[in-house]
Amino acid sequence: MAQVSLKDVVKIFPGDVTAVNNVNFGVENKEFIVLVGPSGCGKSTTLRLIAGLEVATRGSIYIGNRMVNDVPPKDRDIAMVFQNYALYPHMTVYENMAFGLRLKKYPKDEIDSRVKEAAGILGLEKLLGRKPRELSGGQRQRVAVGRSIVRKPLVFLFDEPLSNLDAKLRVQMRTELHRLHIRLQATMIYVTHDQTEAMMLGDRIVVMKDGLIQQIDTPTKVYNSPVNKFVASFIGAPPMNFLDGRIIRKEQKLYFDEGKFRIRIVEGMYDALENYIDRRVTLGVRSEDIYDKLFVSETPPENIVTITCEVVEHLGSEIYIHMNTGKHILVARVSGDANPQINQDMDVVFDMSKIHFFDRATEKTIV
Ligand code: ATP
Repeated sequence: MAQVSLKDVVKIFPGDVTAVNNVNFGVENKEFIVLVGPSGCGKSTTLRLIAGLEVATRGSIYIGNRMVNDVPPKDRDIAMVFQNYALYPHMTVYENMAFGLRLKKYPKDEIDSRVKEAAGILGLEKLLGRKPRELSGGQRQRVAVGRSIVRKPLVFLFDEPLSNLDAKLRVQMRTELHRLHIRLQATMIYVTHDQTEAMMLGDRIVVMKDGLIQQIDTPTKVYNSPVNKFVASFIGAPPMNFLDGRIIRKEQKLYFDEGKFRIRIVEGMYDALENYIDRRVTLGVRSEDIYDKLFVSETPPENIVTITCEVVEHLGSEIYIHMNTGKHILVARVSGDANPQINQDMDVVFDMSKIHFFDRATEKTIV
């Protein structure tokens, strides 16, 4: 069984740089977990700690049931795929994939069958005699993955493996990795700064910032129920819109008052907002939860917001509208059938059941 767990792991680099700050998480057997966050958040260091390429300042790292803090990388039964592939230029594809097994003195027949099996899985059969320089970026990446597959490790570690590929190939390789995970049924830990990649690949994703874990959850949970404003803004494209305003109570009903407009809050949120009445909060709304009023039937007038349409971006099936409330700029993602006119006022409606509220001081989610 290939679970991985980190308990109270801290990594402080010389110069007092705390790259990983008391990180705790467990990866289940056969799980695909993605560490995601902005540059410098500590995701690569976390992966390198699991690989044994860095030594933890404090805390314990387990692979399977074994504490591996003092186990050298080669004995951890992991395989790591790097961003830069790290192939041997003078060796053929076959030799590159066979190299690790040869070092471990595997019998020739076993090496041959493992290399051919991996080549079959990755569609590399016709390229086994080529040198890395004779391959495209995507093919090189596949060889790097093949080299890790032949070792049949307990855990696969990927450090931004797709970032050197062009956009189209990245999308294609992403699907291939997904397929590979389903086929191999292996434990995989994957690092990326790309939230789309994280959402698409991860059974669960670990969102990091400043060396701290912000949230560990399924992609759907992270998207729909972010624990704080950082996660809400980092996950999702275009990013969630944020508006500052005040919660007010009038005739037993709660409203969000932005300054230029006022909208009614759904009753299901009243309990959570009880302590915020007459206080300033941040409202979060995703771009797909703002609708052109023309496409919404029966909207109470108190929920209609008039905005000025400033920029319109056509993407075919949908349109991004950059709109100005007079105080805030928002982006709405509306149906391609809408017909927004630049510099004109437009009535929009927020889906109030999908609204988020954040505490302005702590930035934690209120509801
Ligand atoms: P990126 O996406 O840019 O690779 P990351 O989230 O993977 O970023 P890390 O590479 O883990 O971030 O780095 C986390 C922090 O630790 C950063 O502030 C970085 O500058 C610092 N750091 C990383 N390696 C070292 C090192 N060897 N010595 C000193 N500081 C380091």
